[in-house]
Amino acid sequence: MQISKTDFIQFLHCPKSLWLLKHKPEAYPHGEFSDYAEKLAAEGYELEAYVRELIEAGVDAAQFSFQTVFQTERGLYAKTDIVRENEDGTFNLYEVKSSTRVKADAKHNQIKDACFQMIAAEEVRKDVRDVFIVHLNGDYVRDGEINPDALLTFAKVTSKVREIEAETRIEINKALDLLQTAEIDESCCSCLTLSKANHCDSFEHFNPGIPKPSIYNLPRISKAKLETFAGEGRFDLEDIGLDEVTEKQAYVLRSAQLREPVVDQGALARWFSRAKYPLYFLDYETYSSAIPIVDGARPQSPIPFQYSLHIKRTPDDLELVHVEYLAEEATLPRAMVDHMQRHIGPKGSVISWHASFENTQNKTMAKQFPDKAEFLQSLMDRTLDLEDLFAAPYVDIAFGGSTSIKKVLPVLAGDLDYAGMDVANGTDAMNAWKHLISMPDGDVRNRLKESMLEYCKLDTYAMVRIFEEMERV
Ligand code: SF4
Repeated sequence: MQISKTDFIQFLHCPKSLWLLKHKPEAYPHGEFSDYAEKLAAEGYELEAYVRELIEAGVDAAQFSFQTVFQTERGLYAKTDIVRENEDGTFNLYEVKSSTRVKADAKHNQIKDACFQMIAAEEVRKDVRDVFIVHLNGDYVRDGEINPDALLTFAKVTSKVREIEAETRIEINKALDLLQTAEIDESCCSCLTLSKANHCDSFEHFNPGIPKPSIYNLPRISKAKLETFAGEGRFDLEDIGLDEVTEKQAYVLRSAQLREPVVDQGALARWFSRAKYPLYFLDYETYSSAIPIVDGARPQSPIPFQYSLHIKRTPDDLELVHVEYLAEEATLPRAMVDHMQRHIGPKGSVISWHASFENTQNKTMAKQFPDKAEFLQSLMDRTLDLEDLFAAPYVDIAFGGSTSIKKVLPVLAGDLDYAGMDVANGTDAMNAWKHLISMPDGDVRNRLKESMLEYCKLDTYAMVRIFEEMERV
């Protein structure tokens, strides 16, 4: 059985999930290759093309080869991005990453991944001299045509890779041993005592019979508490006492046991007392990519290209005002900020969902356009986060322990639905915008534009409806 670097990284995250993938692929929940994953893959190819352009322009271009495969007798499989044959008979390995730095954290593990490639390559032919990670230069600012020399950074990581070589060889041996094992204990897995954020899609396979909802729906639950509950076989929220959980967890627990929403009227009233009319319900759509598509932008930096605004002028306002903007060419969002400034007055609250996202864009735009900084700062100062209501003041077990608008909306305003829309989420919007800005005028373009506007409009209208529902509560 072969093991690639992707398999090996999966093994490091969770040996059991790799075993399931390799031994029982039919039981492994593969999930869908999401639009976002497709976008990342396309960006990876684009980046590799710039690396290749840069290398092929060099005087030593003939010494490089691309996508070289090293396959060892004991089952290691490494397809390296780039190999350079050195003058002294040794060779260098290059791994291309679309990050703006070398990431060595447990989740990304680029050093470990490079180490796997080096070990596989050295088992086939000796003498890897140096290992490089080629990543994006986070300080690069696009100005006209992409300049691959300025866009890319070649980070030599040889010593870091050599430092972990011995431990990585041991881990590779363990991974190969595991894959030789015909049977493992499939009756449970170690995530039984870890919070939901750690669970992968194989959780149900290894832990059948866990009820829904369960102790894993309790927010921020500690490992110690999960160990106690799981150790005593208490997975059902009916079996948990209010005195055993924190204040925030108690909201979810009570809602599950009562089978109805639990409300802290005082906290709800305090939030509403901060909401000043007119209310501006605001949502941005942003585009980010490894290779900046807009002059003035950096790699991986989001560019707002669209906003929707619903304005509720008074508490009894029955006719909301709706304002929208969609950039039709790839530029920094100055025209969008101008447009917002014409429609968002100096008084009244700005309401967003997960407002830190909108405010991060406001901060970036304030730096890009200093003459707009005062206006954008005023938006930040006046922002209220509607999501905050669902962290504690209003909890319904029907949200599944989540505060995402995608979980809250169907419960509070079930008649509003993203299903069936051509643009139905942020990734769709990003992909749609990339197409829109390079499309010729015509019906297809107009339809795409309408779909994008319709989606963003629903985002802010959904907020209005949720706000009004909460106001009634
Ligand atoms: S749920 Fe956790 S322990 Fe279980 S297979 Fe997935 S990652 Fe591994």
